Amino acid sequence: MPHGVVIARNAAQVAALLKTAQAERVPVTVRGGGLTTEGESVAYGGVLLDMTGMSRVLEVDADRLTVRTEAGIFWASLAEVLRRDGLDYLSAPLNLTSTVGGTLGVGGIDVNSPRLGCSADQALALQLVTPTGEIVECSDTENAALFERAILGYGQFGVITEATLRIRRYTPIRMRYFYYSGLRTAIEDLQLLDRNDASDYCGILTMMDKAINLLVAFDSDEREAAFDANWQTRLRGSGEAGFALRMGLHYALRPWRLGEALYLWRRKRELFPEFRRPEHTRDGRMHDRAVVFSRAVWKFWGGRQMVIPDLATSAGKFADAVERGNAVCRRFFPHYTLYCVGIRLREDHRAHYEMSCIPPDALGWAYGCEFEPMIGDAVYSRDTLQSFKNAIYDIGVDIGGSYYRFGGMMKGYIRRALGDAVVERHLAMKRAADPAMILNRDVIF
Ligand SMILES: Cc1cc2nc3c(=O)[nH]c(=O)nc-3n(C[C@H](O)[C@H](O)[C@H](O)COP(=O)(O)OP(=O)(O)OC[C@H]3O[C@@H](n4cnc5c(N)ncnc54)[C@H](O)[C@@H]3O)c2cc1C
Repeated sequence: MPHGVVIARNAAQVAALLKTAQAERVPVTVRGGGLTTEGESVAYGGVLLDMTGMSRVLEVDADRLTVRTEAGIFWASLAEVLRRDGLDYLSAPLNLTSTVGGTLGVGGIDVNSPRLGCSADQALALQLVTPTGEIVECSDTENAALFERAILGYGQFGVITEATLRIRRYTPIRMRYFYYSGLRTAIEDLQLLDRNDASDYCGILTMMDKAINLLVAFDSDEREAAFDANWQTRLRGSGEAGFALRMGLHYALRPWRLGEALYLWRRKRELFPEFRRPEHTRDGRMHDRAVVFSRAVWKFWGGRQMVIPDLATSAGKFADAVERGNAVCRRFFPHYTLYCVGIRLREDHRAHYEMSCIPPDALGWAYGCEFEPMIGDAVYSRDTLQSFKNAIYDIGVDIGGSYYRFGGMMKGYIRRALGDAVVERHLAMKRAADPAMILNRDVIF
C-alpha cells in the first residue's frame, strides 16, 4: 500500500509534488489505469499519483487530425469525445480502462498496429513533468532527447500530463476469419498480409494450438474488395465449414481426445457470438472494436487469477518463439489462448525504441504473442504461475527477443534481455534526471 494517494489535477500540482518528493526522497508511483501486469503501477509505500484526475480533452483539430488531451483519460473516453465529430484515435489497447499516459509509456497494441504502429507512435508532443518538477513540452523537434525517453520509457523520465496525438476519421469495421490448424502457417500468412498492407486490421487468436483464427478486418469496401481480388486465395486458411469438417475427422480418428473437441466446440459457441452482438453490429460492421474485444477479454479471459506473459521478436524469429511458447502452455495448462499481432515500426526515429518492448533487431515490423492460460475457477499456486512466466520469458532471452504489451517485463529479465551496456547507459540518464530516484522506482532499475 502507498502511504498516501494524490489525485492529479494539473501539471503545476504534479510539479509541486515531485519537487517536494525529490527534496524529501519520497517515492512517487504513477498510476493510469493500473493494467500493466508486472506491478509497475503498484506503490510499495510512498505516494501513489493517480492520473485519472486529469482526463479532459483539451482541443480537437479536425483539419489537421490531431487531438490534445490530458494524459489520465481512458482511450474509450477519448473515443467517445472524438466520435462526436466523426473522428477516432489511431490505435489503442483493447480494454476499456487503459489511460493515454500509461499506454504511451509502455507501447500499446491494437489489431491495426501492423498498419498504424503502436499507440506510443501516435504521440506528436507531450507535456511532461520531470522528476525534479519542471514542466516541459517535448516532441521530435523540441527537447527531442526527453521525448525519446518519455515515449515507451515506463514513466522513468517524467509524468506525462498532456499529449498531442494523431487521430483519424472514424470507420466501423468489417471482420472476417480464416481458420488454420497449424500455428506456423497462420503466422506466415499473417506476415504476408502485413508486408503487403493487404488488410486494415490483422491478428491471430487461437483456442490452444487447435483452432487458429486469422482475423482480418477492413475500414472500407474498397480495401475489402482489393483483399478479395489479390490476397484471399493466397491464404492457406479455410472457411468455417471446411475447418469444422477437418476437425470432425481429426477427432473421429482420436476418440480419446473427445474432451478437447467438446471444449473447443463449447468455446466457439460462447465466444463467437460476442464478436457479433447486435448492439455493436450494424450492416455487418462492428461499431466499436474496443468495446467488443474488451467485453470478450474480461468475460472469457478474466478471473480471480490472470497471468499473461508475452514475447516480442523480429518477424523472422516469431514463428519459432510462438511454437516454443505454445509448448510451454501445453505443459502447464489444459486450456489457453494465444494472441499474435504485428507492430509497424517507425524507421525514421528508432531511438525511442531503445530499452522498450520493441526488440532491438526488429526492422519494419515487430511481432508479439501473448500466452493466456484459461484459468477459470481453477486455483494455481503462485509458484506454478511464476514458473510458467519464467518458462515463457526464458524463451525471450534465449532467442534475443523482448516482452511487450502488458507493460513490460519482469524486472529480473531486463538486464538479461537487453544487456548490461544499454541498461547502464539508461541508468546513468535516469540518475541525472532523477537524483533521488523517486519516480516509478524499481520498475526498471
Ligand atoms: C485484460 C487486459 C487486456 C489488455 N489488453 C491490451 C491490449 O489489447 N493492448 C495493449 O497494448 N495492452 C493491453 N493490456 C495492457 C495494458 O492495457 C497496457 O499496459 C496499458 O496500456 C497500460 O495503461 P494503464 O493506463 O493501465 O497504465 P498503468 O498500468 O497505470 O501504467 C503503466 C506504466 O506507466 C506509468 N505511468 C502511468 N501513467 C503515466 C503517466 N501519465 N506518465 C508517466 N508514467 C505513467 C506507470 O507508473 C507504469 O509504470 C491489457 C491488460 C489487461 C489487464
